[in-house]
Amino acid sequence: MEEELKEIKYQVLNCKKCPLHKTRLYPVIGEGNHQADVMLIGEAPGFHESKTGRPFCGAAGRILDELLEFAGIKREDIYITNILKCRPPKNRDPQEEEIKACSPYLEKQIQLINPKTICPLGNYATRYILKKYGLEDKIDGISKIHGKVFEKEKRIIPLYHPAVGLYRANMKEVLKQDIKKIL
Ligand code: URA
Ligand code: SF4
Repeated sequence: MEEELKEIKYQVLNCKKCPLHKTRLYPVIGEGNHQADVMLIGEAPGFHESKTGRPFCGAAGRILDELLEFAGIKREDIYITNILKCRPPKNRDPQEEEIKACSPYLEKQIQLINPKTICPLGNYATRYILKKYGLEDKIDGISKIHGKVFEKEKRIIPLYHPAVGLYRANMKEVLKQDIKKIL
């Protein structure tokens, strides 16, 4: 499995399957415990992530760290990745074709790491994961389904994207209550 995860890394580093490879700096493959029970799936790397190759290391990452600490979850115990491995220009929304091109990497990561709990962060990751597990009928805006627990093969808990804590300070309390559902 370590070999297979390395193979994914190699493939992503060399990937040209969608136009984002032209504008990216570093792709962000994912990071954390390869035996993790919990996988967090964000949207795509932002500016800082694409400079370092590490997921959630910028402003949204600081919020995420705060939330994890609040819940008593160590970053090194979980696995964190994104739907898109390369940064969209100016952090624009992911496009359908980009998600289609990139998702085989995420699929393989889920298969290899085999977490019990998957938390998609924000609308794009939530839609993807609910669809993947045959929960299309549960798809709704993240403001409606954040913090709900779905059991279907995995425990699936959609969460707000931590970046909402940056521009809506009063959301912090909701984010904190939601993240405790992981435990
Ligand atoms: N936002 C994301 O969705 N993912 C990151 O890695 C950083 C910011
Ligand atoms: Fe490849 Fe994904 Fe990067 Fe597109 S976003 S170039 S599919 S790794």
